[in-house]
Amino acid sequence: MIVVLTGGTGGAKFVDGLRHVIPQKELTIIVNTGDDLDWWGLYVSPDLDSITYVLADRLSSERGWGVRGDTFFCLQTMGDLGQPTWFHTGDRDLALHLVRSKLIHEGRTLAEATVEIANKFGIGARILPMSNARVETRVDTPVGELSFEEYFVQRWYQDPVKSVRFAGATEAKPAPGVLDAIMSAGAVLIAPSNPVTSIGPILAVPGIVAALKRTRAPVAAVSPIIGASAVSGPAGILMTAQKLPVSITGVAQAYKEFLDILIVDHQDAKAAKDLQRAGVRVHSAHTIMRTMQDKTQLARTVLSLVASKNTAHAASDPS
Ligand code: GDP
Repeated sequence: MIVVLTGGTGGAKFVDGLRHVIPQKELTIIVNTGDDLDWWGLYVSPDLDSITYVLADRLSSERGWGVRGDTFFCLQTMGDLGQPTWFHTGDRDLALHLVRSKLIHEGRTLAEATVEIANKFGIGARILPMSNARVETRVDTPVGELSFEEYFVQRWYQDPVKSVRFAGATEAKPAPGVLDAIMSAGAVLIAPSNPVTSIGPILAVPGIVAALKRTRAPVAAVSPIIGASAVSGPAGILMTAQKLPVSITGVAQAYKEFLDILIVDHQDAKAAKDLQRAGVRVHSAHTIMRTMQDKTQLARTVLSLVASKNTAHAASDPS
């Protein structure tokens, strides 16, 4: 079993590659829920949604979120009715939010609702929220503390960030199956997701870091940082706020307690050598996923790296 820790957009691209090179039933995906929000009275879980849609082959690849070919008539009418419209939910997307909210209202846990939705969509992979408890990523800015979606979507991540915290994390438990999945994995892969606000909340749930340290499976991460910036989004700003350098070194530092292999982009080959001298096993590859071929090639590279347990030093793939 391959276990993936992931957020939404970068992670969904990585999972898209994996689902094309190994059977879905060999994949367990542990998903960040720190971005979850109450929207129009519905329970919306942006990262669970993106992972569900990509595995169901429904994700809009142009937008990187939501459903392919969706329309936005409900959103327009909600605006006419004076409701907030900054968080975009398409008409087809709304069906998922309605069903999840209904299931939770009827007493199912988030994990149970996730399984039920995945089954209806014919998804073969196992999708696990990091926790059934509510853990909320809070971003402290000069205008006050914001939820991640307020910071990211409503305010276009323009506010300077003082710090980030994960409200509710210390009392949260991993969702059933999360620790077992990590402990019994053939390999654990950390997607090229935001280390602070996508992987950070997962690591903040008590027990998960300990399992990552104890598992016999190799733990490999793909860097979402190339050179001195994030491929997209606020990862760089948030890493700076968390006192991490915005570089592959910062990514290695964020995962230092359990990381076995860091996969970085070819553009970072020189920095990779320095990092390797500091004792981290680094492999350089083509990590920008624009096409399906980019995604499947990266998935194959990562899978072959974790399969070759005895490779002690970095190598470069020929791409
Ligand atoms: P979010 O929940 O929507 O923020 O999504 P993620 O955390 O999964 O993904 C965002 C991160 O993915 C950002 O830090 C990007 O730098 C990174 N990212 C996005 N696309 C790519 C890509 O093609 N290659 C790599 N290496 N990183 C990417």
